[in-house]
Amino acid sequence: MNHALDLSAISPEASMATLSSTLIHWAREYYTLDAPTVCDNKYDATFNELKALEELHPEFINPNSPTQRIGGDRLEGFVQIRHKTPMLSLNNVYTDQEQEDFFTKAGLNIYSHIIAEPKLDGLAVSLYYVNRKLAYAATRGDGQTGEDVTHNIKTIHSIPVELDDSAPAILEVRGEVVMKKHIFSKLNAKAQASGGEFRTFANCRNAAAGTLRQLDSQKAAKRPLDFYAYAIAECSSELPDTHSGRLGFITTLGFPVHTAVQRITPAGLGKYSDAIYARRESMNEEIDGVVFKIDSIAHQERLGFVSRAPKWAIARKFPADEKETTLEIVDWQVGASGILTPVARLSPVHVGGVTISNSTLHNLNEIRRLDLAIGDRVVVSRAADVIPKVTSVLSRPLDRQTISAPTECPSCGSTVVQDSGHVAYRCTGGTRCPAQAVALIKRFARRDLMDIDGLGEKLVEQLYEANFIQKPSDLYYLCFSAVAELPGMGEKSALKLKKGIEASRETTLDKVLAAQNIREVGRSACRELTKHFDNDLHAIFAATQEQLLDVELFGPVMAELAYNAFREPSFQQEIARLRYAGVVWPEKSTKAAAEGDSLEGQVWVLTGTFTSMTRSEAETKLAAKGCRVASSVSKNVTTLCAGAKAGSKLAKAEKIGVPVVDEDYLLSVIGE
Ligand SMILES: [Zn+2]
Repeated sequence: MNHALDLSAISPEASMATLSSTLIHWAREYYTLDAPTVCDNKYDATFNELKALEELHPEFINPNSPTQRIGGDRLEGFVQIRHKTPMLSLNNVYTDQEQEDFFTKAGLNIYSHIIAEPKLDGLAVSLYYVNRKLAYAATRGDGQTGEDVTHNIKTIHSIPVELDDSAPAILEVRGEVVMKKHIFSKLNAKAQASGGEFRTFANCRNAAAGTLRQLDSQKAAKRPLDFYAYAIAECSSELPDTHSGRLGFITTLGFPVHTAVQRITPAGLGKYSDAIYARRESMNEEIDGVVFKIDSIAHQERLGFVSRAPKWAIARKFPADEKETTLEIVDWQVGASGILTPVARLSPVHVGGVTISNSTLHNLNEIRRLDLAIGDRVVVSRAADVIPKVTSVLSRPLDRQTISAPTECPSCGSTVVQDSGHVAYRCTGGTRCPAQAVALIKRFARRDLMDIDGLGEKLVEQLYEANFIQKPSDLYYLCFSAVAELPGMGEKSALKLKKGIEASRETTLDKVLAAQNIREVGRSACRELTKHFDNDLHAIFAATQEQLLDVELFGPVMAELAYNAFREPSFQQEIARLRYAGVVWPEKSTKAAAEGDSLEGQVWVLTGTFTSMTRSEAETKLAAKGCRVASSVSKNVTTLCAGAKAGSKLAKAEKIGVPVVDEDYLLSVIGE
């Protein structure tokens, strides 16, 4: 092996970390600073050395390792890329007058040429080619610095990864990444059918952005995106002196340019935007206006820029179904996983045929993007098939109040944290948090999970408020005569609920696991999990993180989160309580299960007298199964086994919700 660095004396883990950070440093010098300090051969040799070590010690692979970026495996986060030429945004005009003023100021005469393009509602990206190979692709970001999305850009078929020999050695192409409307509709339909497992997107642009920012490029590849080039930012060879000439040049290199792009004269401005506006419904891409650029590069250079926008190009925005209103306050809603979502409370406004008084703001990034604060006059728009949303801020009063994530959960008061690498804020209250508990029970009852008929969202809230249920398994221990007494319920509704709950008992293991809402481990992952372990719950609970990694769809993060979840007493208690309440699923034969039984991670308490053995014999046998036997009942206890004449321990277990089993169950578990 060609040792690029002398690492023979240190541990493989440390060597790998050193190699990895060295490579990242070199790559940064090369790509971002344009000042390489090592030759390509040395880089490659070091890269190969790291790869060889990673093959020997996969357990030490750093997800940020440069090797992990090839072939686009899961990334931990995004590398920031500084644009060599800033990616500017265009100024918008909304009226004919504004448009005319703009071109008058730009010194256009009737003989000038203008390039007219549809304004695609997607994501601007920069594609940087070195020696005719795609070196990196970055999002626009703040215009100065964007995110490295090379791994996902490579999944877009319309973007060439390599260019012909005739192409210039250095080339930066800019354009728009879009999701076509029919792909977007299909994706959202699938997301809605999934009952919340896949997220739905408000529009094509969000879907494109979400896909491009997807850490897992295999997932990104399943959501096809398209690309249309609109400019060259850097080129090592001489370029044509018109914008249209340059677009033609890009086309010859294999980059798609939108077919609706036209070269027109000032007299044709109105006609072009009217034509695109009329066609926009039938176009494949979401379009929110048209862009006009002066064709002559010399003219462009004479005009230059004003603050952050060119003086030679303008976006003419199309009118939308929009109304003005005021942002009164922002509420933070807590979901089943504790994620806090900001929701705008608006002064009610009639738009697109409905009255709107609230609208999701998704997350703080969206709020920052809009530069939104409480008290602002905002534009709310509602297009067909799109949820109403705050699209922009019209005016910002002096006494506006900045929106920030609460430091304490609005529902339970627990600390709110932001997980590293995530945009979202999360309540740490877990099941103690009423909002999370209610959301979790609602989720549990969902059609694609436990499918409880007759248990609507309102009823979950009512049952929770009446203190009848605190966690999903409580549904199976409900006293229906008491439920019938609840306001608005009655015998009939209670009976319907009872039937719904009873019918839900017969289910499948993957649904039971998915209904537990393990972070990052969704419905499909649970399906793969149970398939992999042949519906053997004990094998799943006993699996090591490495074994979990072998499961289809599982990455290191999921494996760790699942592994930890399976060891939480509360998790095991929930499963045990469900089983005890008669929730059943097809499983491996009892004998095989008993032989393979591991009670690792479980905590049992024995109480009362047993007929087939003494308590200490039972303890020994349980311990042999990897189970810890405790002497007193606490929240950490997963199972209480009660023999005859059980007393206070049984009472306490029932009081705090520890599942109780009898001697027969004990015998079946220890295999006798
Ligand atoms: Zn909370």
